[in-house]
Amino acid sequence: MDPLREKIDRAMMARCVELSRIAVTKGEYPFGTVIARDGKILAEAINHTIRDGDVTRHAEVIAISQAQKAIGREQLRHYTLYTNIEPCAMCSYCIRESWIGRVVFALASPVMGGTSKWNILQDDDVASRMPQIFAAAPEVVSGLLLHEAQQAWRDWSPIAWEMIKLRGLLTEPCPQGEHVHVRPSGRRSLMHRLQILLERNYQPRVQAQAPDAPENSQL
Ligand SMILES: [Zn+2]
Repeated sequence: MDPLREKIDRAMMARCVELSRIAVTKGEYPFGTVIARDGKILAEAINHTIRDGDVTRHAEVIAISQAQKAIGREQLRHYTLYTNIEPCAMCSYCIRESWIGRVVFALASPVMGGTSKWNILQDDDVASRMPQIFAAAPEVVSGLLLHEAQQAWRDWSPIAWEMIKLRGLLTEPCPQGEHVHVRPSGRRSLMHRLQILLERNYQPRVQAQAPDAPENSQL
């Protein structure tokens, strides 16, 4: 991996781990998400599932919602979504439909994950058949700051963390502790390029800062 990109990735993931610790102080589970381009953070969020009593309020979904309001879907293909835990099926679907170009996570989620359990992040079929809705599969990098992410969960609850490990709910992406890097398996289709052009020409552009958009953070 390019050294500069890896340095940026590590900084962004460190922020996710920090957010996961902040989440605990606010009575939430330790999840944190950042959406950024070249190290410049566009949106960040923690879960709101407990406080809102709403299972859909995952950190990734909240951050994607902020990012779409700020810059629109077309630009999100240049952005990376960082998150301390592999995105679940629901969040992975939102990642695909919002056209985010790259996903980086620390810990794998073999029971609930959108790439370990279900092939949502890397599914080519959905993009080739519905290019007006779904982007090509994003690049995926996993295992970044793995130990730091684990420690945040262990500090949240040592007992819960042992149970999570016993059940194999959150694991290392690979036994060697190396990064797992999955490049997009399909290039952007002609139909998808055409769709981007059509959206550029015919859809109203979202203002960079919508009046009701929150700041770059929803904690
Ligand atoms: Zn999720």
